[in-house]
Amino acid sequence: MLKIAIAGVAGRMGRALIEALHNAESDRFALTAAVHKTASTLLGVDAGELAGVGHIGVPVVANLDDADFDLLIDFTLVEPTLEHVAYCQAHAKSIVIGTTGFSEDEKAQIAAAAGTIPVILAANMSVGMNLCFHLLKQMSRVLGDDSDIEIIEAHHRHKVDSPSGTAMRLGEVIADTLGRDLEQCAVYGRQGVSDARSRDTIGFATVRAGDVVGDHTVLFASEGERVELTHKASSRMTFAKGAVRAAAWLDGKPAGLYDMQDVLGFRD
Ligand code: NAD
Repeated sequence: MLKIAIAGVAGRMGRALIEALHNAESDRFALTAAVHKTASTLLGVDAGELAGVGHIGVPVVANLDDADFDLLIDFTLVEPTLEHVAYCQAHAKSIVIGTTGFSEDEKAQIAAAAGTIPVILAANMSVGMNLCFHLLKQMSRVLGDDSDIEIIEAHHRHKVDSPSGTAMRLGEVIADTLGRDLEQCAVYGRQGVSDARSRDTIGFATVRAGDVVGDHTVLFASEGERVELTHKASSRMTFAKGAVRAAAWLDGKPAGLYDMQDVLGFRD
C-alpha cells in the first residue's frame, strides 16, 4: 500500500486532493499524512473534515518530519516545494509536483533531485489538457510555420503567476515542435504602437477575473482560416484526479523526472 502525503492541505488544491484521494477508494494507495504549515490553527484538525468529506482519521501536521509517507503530492508555492523536494531527496521519498511558477534554475534543481528519486513535475495535471499538449504537436507541425500563433489564458483573480504555467507549457510544446527558442520568440501582452506582427513570434494574452478555474486557447490564424484548440477546466477536481493518477503511476518507477505525458503513455 502506497502511503501518500499532501502538502498545503488548507489550499484550494490541497482540499481537492484530499477529496480525490478519498473518492478513489483504492486498495493500492491511501492518504496517510496531511501537511499544512507551522503555527496554523488547523494543526490537529482532521483532513477529511477540512476538505468536507467527513472524518478520515488523518490529522493535519506542521511539517514532513511528523508525516508517515512514501510519496508527497505538492501543490503549494515555489519556495516550500523546493524545500519539500530537498526533503524527499534526503529521505528517499517520491514526489508529484503540481506547483507552478518555477524559474529555469529552479526547474534544474528539481531535475537534479530526480537523479536519485522519482519525480513528476507537471504544470497541468488534467488528463484533457495533456491530451491537448499531445494534439498540439501535430497541429504545430501541420499549421505552425504558416500561422500566427497566439495563446490566450484566463484564471481566477487569486492566481499569482502570469502567464499560467500551462500557457507557458503550451508555448514550449509549440516552440520545441517548430525548432524555435521560446525565450526569443515569446511576446507577452501588447500595448501602444508596434511594428506589424512577425510570424515567428508566439503571443501570450492573460486574463485574471472572478473564479475562472482555468481556460486556455491556442489560436493558429492564417490567410483564410483559423484553427483553435480550447480547454476549459470547470473544477479543480480534474487536476486533483490527474495528480492521484500520477501518484499511482509513479509507484515503483525508477528515479527520474517524469510528467503527465509519461503517465498517459504519450511520450514520443
Ligand atoms: P492556494 O494558495 O489555495 O494553496 C497553497 C497552499 O500552500 C496554502 O494553503 C498555503 O498555506 C500552503 N503553504 C504555503 N507554504 C507552505 C509550506 N511551507 N508548507 C506547506 N504548505 C504551505 O493555491 P492553489 O490554488 O491550491 O494552488 C497551489 C499551486 O498549485 C499553485 O502554484 C498553482 O498554480 C498550482 N496549480 C497547479 C495545477 C496543476 O494541474 N499542476 C492545478 C491548479 C493549481
